[in-house]
Amino acid sequence: MMQDREHGAKSVGVRTNFHLQFITTPTSDTPGTNLILHFDNKRYIFGELCEGTQRACISRGIGLRKIRGVFLSGKTAWNNGGLIGLILTMADVQQGEVEGEGSTRRPRLNIYGGPKQQHSLACARRFVFRTGMPLSIHEANVQKSPEPPSMVHEDENIRVWAIPAKFATSAATQTEDQCESDADAESERTDVDESRLSAEQSLREHIVNNMFDSDWKRDRLVQCKLKDIKLPAVVWIRDPETKNLTSYTCFSPDNIGPLTMETDVLVRTPWPASTVQQLPEASALPTKVATSYIIKGHAQRGTFDAAKAASLGLKPGPLYAQLVAGKTVENGAGQTITPDMVLTPTRPGKGVAIFDVPSVHYLVGLEQRLEACPDHLFEGLEAAIWITRGSVPYSDRFRQMLNKHKNIKHIVSHPDLCHDHITQDSFSISSIRLNNIASEFFAVPRYDNIHAYRPIVATSSPDIREVLAIEDSHIDVLPAKRGLRIHVEPTFALDESEIPDALDLASLDLPMETRVQECLPEDMSPYRRTAASPSTMELDEPEIITLGTGSAAPSKYRNVSAVLLRMPKDMGTYLFDCGEGTLGQLQRLYTPDEMDKLLFNLKAIWISHLHADHHLGTISVLQAAVSARKRLSGPERPRPPPPCLISEINMMDYMDDYHSVLGMPTEALCTPVACHWTEGMSLRGKSFDFSQTNVPIKDLRTVKVNHCHGAQAVSVTFNNGFKFSYSGDCRPNEAFCNIGADSDVLVHEATFDDGLDGDAKAKKHCTTGEAVGVALKMRAKNLILTHFSQRYQKLPVLSSVKMPEHNPEDEVDDDVDGEMTTGPTTISADAPAQSTDTSAWVEQDATRDLNIGVAFDLMRVKVSQIASFKKLLPAISKMFEIEEEKREQQRREAAAIAQAEQDRKMADKLARQEANRKKLQEATGKKKKDTRNKRKLEDGTNKPSANTNAKATENGSAADPMSAAAITHPMDVDSEGSRAQADR
Ligand SMILES: [Zn+2]
Ligand SMILES: [Zn+2]
Repeated sequence: MMQDREHGAKSVGVRTNFHLQFITTPTSDTPGTNLILHFDNKRYIFGELCEGTQRACISRGIGLRKIRGVFLSGKTAWNNGGLIGLILTMADVQQGEVEGEGSTRRPRLNIYGGPKQQHSLACARRFVFRTGMPLSIHEANVQKSPEPPSMVHEDENIRVWAIPAKFATSAATQTEDQCESDADAESERTDVDESRLSAEQSLREHIVNNMFDSDWKRDRLVQCKLKDIKLPAVVWIRDPETKNLTSYTCFSPDNIGPLTMETDVLVRTPWPASTVQQLPEASALPTKVATSYIIKGHAQRGTFDAAKAASLGLKPGPLYAQLVAGKTVENGAGQTITPDMVLTPTRPGKGVAIFDVPSVHYLVGLEQRLEACPDHLFEGLEAAIWITRGSVPYSDRFRQMLNKHKNIKHIVSHPDLCHDHITQDSFSISSIRLNNIASEFFAVPRYDNIHAYRPIVATSSPDIREVLAIEDSHIDVLPAKRGLRIHVEPTFALDESEIPDALDLASLDLPMETRVQECLPEDMSPYRRTAASPSTMELDEPEIITLGTGSAAPSKYRNVSAVLLRMPKDMGTYLFDCGEGTLGQLQRLYTPDEMDKLLFNLKAIWISHLHADHHLGTISVLQAAVSARKRLSGPERPRPPPPCLISEINMMDYMDDYHSVLGMPTEALCTPVACHWTEGMSLRGKSFDFSQTNVPIKDLRTVKVNHCHGAQAVSVTFNNGFKFSYSGDCRPNEAFCNIGADSDVLVHEATFDDGLDGDAKAKKHCTTGEAVGVALKMRAKNLILTHFSQRYQKLPVLSSVKMPEHNPEDEVDDDVDGEMTTGPTTISADAPAQSTDTSAWVEQDATRDLNIGVAFDLMRVKVSQIASFKKLLPAISKMFEIEEEKREQQRREAAAIAQAEQDRKMADKLARQEANRKKLQEATGKKKKDTRNKRKLEDGTNKPSANTNAKATENGSAADPMSAAAITHPMDVDSEGSRAQADR
């Protein structure tokens, strides 16, 4: 059966056309390597789904609507850091998709990976909840002995075999690789109870199903006795007569208002997935396994030999088609003609291999597995894509493996071989324009088109053969590049035409428009960095760096939430929220040495709430901090304790669940400080305060805010008296104004423009005017607004300031978290940018004495500088206005080109119809012409306009960053249509 499939008997009639294309190669903000496999009806992603993958897809115009399979390669750790964000976005954009014709079910998303993948996703059950997104996780089966790899996936397009390779040390590799994490050194458990393992796996599977495809409904209430519920909780009592529901907040058994513990109450059923308090430890599962894949298309039928058919007495027509479709026919003389008589032989499908080797210790395991492969698996294999780390590509064993497979092409991805080029072209160009206005505040991202961010071997040689010391000229090897296409069927070929030129920001000439210049303040000295300016690393006062300033999902211009606070004089650095890609944003701002210092001094990370856009970057930042502490500490410089991770208890539980995936105890990464608005801070159940630590914080207070379950706003007073308040996501909150009273700096969310009050209320966010109102009521000295929802960069609209009101409803409206279960709504902020009247910012009486800054990604501002920020707003606003005009112009031009193309197609169609009509007339010998009808058709063919050569490409100019269009901001081509702006 397998044999038949291999040789294609089953697939006569199949003719396919498909290719792979690199989405990312390792850079600062896309640390992983992944590719998209492209068929017309479906797409698949292969490789590492590191943080930043989703944003890379957006910037390259790669749509997620048709993704049906994700094949995670390598070792399950945090190489899947971009997976959750990607699935959530897929859940939104695939809403209209159905399984097949006549079905209403959504197509299932299949995710393949190594051991612990199921566990890794189940860890997110406390904050991921979607309905109607069927999803399955398939973990590669790790056998005790190297057996032939098994086929894990087969559909109408491809067949995929998973190759899990085990970690193995040999004398040759023992000292070779320093990059292998400590976790790999620990020995694997052998005392495993198979039946227990399988029960645990099904629990994880059940949880993951519930996270994405549950029939649970938020508004479903169940009846029980108050004593049976975990307090605090909100409960309802139904009036027996009026049938109305009244809600009560019960805090603790001694604080339950008019109720008794025996009262029958109604409660919301909790998310089914969140009821599992702790996952079984994943450390019983195989740890040191790196998964690779072989991907093959189906066998391809041969070509039709018309001459042979004619010699067999067949005439062109339906019989030909039947033969091509694999059917047997009869010729005129009654002879049976089988397809193989007129078709060249069917050939096996072509394919590629993706070998993921996280360190040299996995090479032996991979080699053994490949040796166990039956020959037919390599049949049709045209190329191997190597995703490598550490010293793998420099090892002899690696060269031996290339040598063994010299008949195919080898494409190697490794941080040393892939340069740290700019990945977010639109954002980077925009940052130059802001930098032109005020270089003191707006940084241009760091990049290097020659080297990696932190190369282990400096490679300035452009020749990969030289770098890898490959002497054998028969080995065909080239480095991976984003945009490189690998055509597999019908003809294998590498296509470099879509590799974007590496953007060289330094060489771009983007002069400031006169209209912008006219809006600048008279004295520009506070805004410009000069040779005399102190280094950005030296501080004599606190500095705020807004690393990610967008809401919900990352976009072209704004990454998700993260604010860095740097305190002067060894008082440390602090992160307030840490969305996916935070580490990447830091690397775009600081050199490796500066990063080490920052991370060595990282004293605390505050996570405001567990929406995915606020914390999915935490693990990678903490891991990087571990390495920085290792690198910088020594005999004279003792290693500092890990930073405090401060958030609600669910974040600590998440870390505790995840530790067995990382193979590292939570305490090695962070000091897990649970924080509750009434109970205060605790460390593993014991009361906690900073006096026991090296953290110079005098006071940290939080309040519960109206946004989602467990969301808190925080106010921190440092030992030197500096007071910093951070809202997280919320509706305006009076209690926050109290704890944050007289703050030196308030960073507040302002998701919606003024005028979108309804959206702000429904989504539990603030408008600009509401955020300003909170700052005024708090008597904050400085305000920085962030967490914007707009797709285009522009200034938020401020029309009127709204002071926060005391809203008793907020207190009982417990955790109704509309965002988590509703799908995306197209909100009005998605509409074309409204123009901003900047006068409201400067001239409103209420805000005259408030210093206001508006956050952009990679903006850095010292506290004393916020006062001067407002004077820049007219110039920034004008700059965006001009950009928007240019975009509008491009939209019009693109629309005109598309129209011309449509006209041309219509003209072609009419011309064809006319030709067919003539043919028919001639054939039927009809001489008489219906002149009236003809004139009608000719009128049609005359209509189309010039410009028939113009072609509107699918991705517009977005793929080529150096095109003129890209430099003046490529049109925000959003192949998904309206993006989900719902926060998560
Ligand atoms: Zn948010
Ligand atoms: Zn949120």
